Amino acid sequence: MAHEEAAKPGAGMKLVIRNIGLLLSGDLQRPILDADTVVVQDGRIAAIGHQKEVDTEGATRVIDASGTALVPGLIDSHVHPVAGDWTPRQNQIGWIDSCLHGGVTTMISAGEVHMPGRPKDVVGVKAMAITAQRAFAALRPSGVKVLAGAPVIEHGMVEEDFRALAEAGVRLLGEVGLGSVKDGPTARQMVGWARKHGIQSTIHTGGPSIPGSSLIDKDVVLAADADVIGHINGGHTALPDAQIRSLCEESPRALEIVHNGNERAALFTLRTAKESKQLHRVILGTDAPAGSGVQPLGIIRVIAALSSVGEIPAEVAFCFATGNTAHIRNLDSGLIEVGRAADFVFMDAAQHSAGKTLLESVRLGDLPGIGMVVIDGEVRSERSRNTPPATRVPKIVK
Ligand SMILES: [Zn+2]
Repeated sequence: MAHEEAAKPGAGMKLVIRNIGLLLSGDLQRPILDADTVVVQDGRIAAIGHQKEVDTEGATRVIDASGTALVPGLIDSHVHPVAGDWTPRQNQIGWIDSCLHGGVTTMISAGEVHMPGRPKDVVGVKAMAITAQRAFAALRPSGVKVLAGAPVIEHGMVEEDFRALAEAGVRLLGEVGLGSVKDGPTARQMVGWARKHGIQSTIHTGGPSIPGSSLIDKDVVLAADADVIGHINGGHTALPDAQIRSLCEESPRALEIVHNGNERAALFTLRTAKESKQLHRVILGTDAPAGSGVQPLGIIRVIAALSSVGEIPAEVAFCFATGNTAHIRNLDSGLIEVGRAADFVFMDAAQHSAGKTLLESVRLGDLPGIGMVVIDGEVRSERSRNTPPATRVPKIVK
């Protein structure tokens, strides 16, 4: 595992990626772009087009995509990190590095709740959130951007606490419901204070995940009005279909489907969102580490499952874990668009997939083969050690 400081990634570098076979934008409105070349300057996308049209002079690095697909770096909207690349939940190290090999370039904390001896008093909650925010801002495990510092609300917190957290750089609330606040009115008041001070919130949805957590039903979710309806498909225990339908129809908030949830409820959510033309609200997470472990391929597994069993074009399913999340989470990554952070995954159909192309293979339920991952314009991994082998892989030619 390489642990590096996050300061000024990609500065002074010009990266040219040529011979791209398929360019997925991450944008639900236009998921496929007509281009074969992407130019990156100082870690940001500077140009997208055909090789003849864009300025490729003076490249400090050139990657031949070998006809593979270039996809925005995947965003895991729901993780529970604790400290660096170690998780006490299953006592594993290197789980974030493993997820990099599954195409994940950004992770968003839904609370550092697995911290052994997690403080529950207000001063301790704030101190731990600020510490996590600082630690993961300073240190990106294997280059992965971990947006952490997500306090879980507890009784006794007042507006001044949210103001102070925001002033200290905290931008997220951990899952509402994992702390002592489990009632709608109190949650709504605290979520409102958080929102007022620029802190985005997520709520636990469904039955308890582990002993000590509890049921949060649709009435509490609707009353709390958090920005993200966390694991709407349960973590793992899902709400009844009628309640999931209510959340899709009565709330305007993000519909987060997780790997560590109920698969049938995930498909029900997808179908309901599709019928009500709400696919732009669908975002993906793993909810790892958890009781069911860590899932390095969790995000691509959900993409392949939703596309194949949920009958969604693969290029649309990729948007759920990229552009949709970027829009809802106000990230500068997640889309292949000029000005965005140059976070990319090179993919191809896995060797011997029945699908002839990446999109066809995913539509058939196969996992893609990952050939390279780039974060802020820097190559972070080459052929994935975790996915089935990609048919073609990109080559670094300079
Ligand atoms: Zn949860």
